[in-house]
Amino acid sequence: MNYTTRDYPQEYPLRTTIAEIDLGRLRANFRTISARAGSAAIMPVVKADAYGHGIVPCAEALVQEGAAMLGVAFAAEAEPLRTDRRIPYETPIAVVTPPFPHGAAEYCRLNLEFCAASLETMQAFSAEAARTGRTLKAHLTIDTGMHRDGIQTHEALEFMRSVEHLPNIAIHGICTHFATSDEADTSYFHLQVKRFGDTIQTLRDAGYSFRYIHAANSGAIANTSAEALFTLVRPGIALYGYNPSDELSEPLNVKPVMALKTSIISLRRLAAEEPISYGRRYTTLRETTIATIPIGYADGLRRNLTEKLRVMIGGQYFSVVGTICMDQCMVDIGDAPFAVGETVQLLGSQKSALAEVEEIRIDANDWAQQLHTIPYEILTSITARVPRIYFTS
Ligand SMILES: *Cc1c(COP(=O)(O)O)cnc(C)c1O
Repeated sequence: MNYTTRDYPQEYPLRTTIAEIDLGRLRANFRTISARAGSAAIMPVVKADAYGHGIVPCAEALVQEGAAMLGVAFAAEAEPLRTDRRIPYETPIAVVTPPFPHGAAEYCRLNLEFCAASLETMQAFSAEAARTGRTLKAHLTIDTGMHRDGIQTHEALEFMRSVEHLPNIAIHGICTHFATSDEADTSYFHLQVKRFGDTIQTLRDAGYSFRYIHAANSGAIANTSAEALFTLVRPGIALYGYNPSDELSEPLNVKPVMALKTSIISLRRLAAEEPISYGRRYTTLRETTIATIPIGYADGLRRNLTEKLRVMIGGQYFSVVGTICMDQCMVDIGDAPFAVGETVQLLGSQKSALAEVEEIRIDANDWAQQLHTIPYEILTSITARVPRIYFTS
């Protein structure tokens, strides 16, 4: 969808700063991932409000594309999925972080699958499920080396024996999580795959079987080691258009789903050596035009990006100058003839104004590099004050 600058105030009168979410790209990324995942089913991870993209519209598109199950980090994140009619109630939702025992009633109410990693929690969940006449589905969670959650590999069989007879619980999955699947050195990743495979074999030998066997995050899917895919994969970041790192030998051909846009709210022509913004940390180098844009650190434009951030206007890059404020920041546009209302793009791509370059782009990796973090943190830091506007390319 091509919004013109004028469209924003008309259609979204409350805010000219928006995150455009391209559900067509989300769907295309899903299909790219599916192709790599072979016969494995897909559990799109939509935790953290779908990595900042908005959980309900993203989940709706992903379910339509054929997601077998949705993954969230906490039970509370499933509430909008269960109350919004766009998500069929029968869609399985798994919470990929192990719950506390007192969470049982909520898991029953929202009909959620849970990570089985503690006997006490299993007993509480069993009792509550029996009381309300439900059967809760569980995924036995194995710690193969991430050491964040799950039971130890050597305790898996004993654990399974102690919980298999709990009423109203069906353990239909087994899972683990990788610590290094996005790194160039794949040795620890393969060690985890092996430990997981051995644990499953031990359980099989004792007569246990699982419908869903899952481990792969985006990094493991990109690594395309078929043995790590098992029967279900859990992609997160790749769905939203980013590879988890730049160390992958065969990165996934996915494209960013989110673009961040605002418009010039005011302009001023300033002489050389005029200070800009709080603390006067920047002064104009020559006579120039300074454009103010209504986006700041309360929108997720991290203050540490001060003096490190570029934006795109009319197919050209310009620098943000002076300290980034809570709600606004300033762009040095030189002698460019832009007017108030002109679109300013902070993330995404646009046609280049220069004949020799086709397209210019800024993505979450660019910000992440400046901030010594990863694109995950950039995307999930775009705050709720920024409306998400959906379209399908
Ligand atoms: C967040 C998460 C994922 C998705 O990871 P990506 O690197 O974003 O693909 C998968 N599994 C678990 C358990 C997670 O916490």
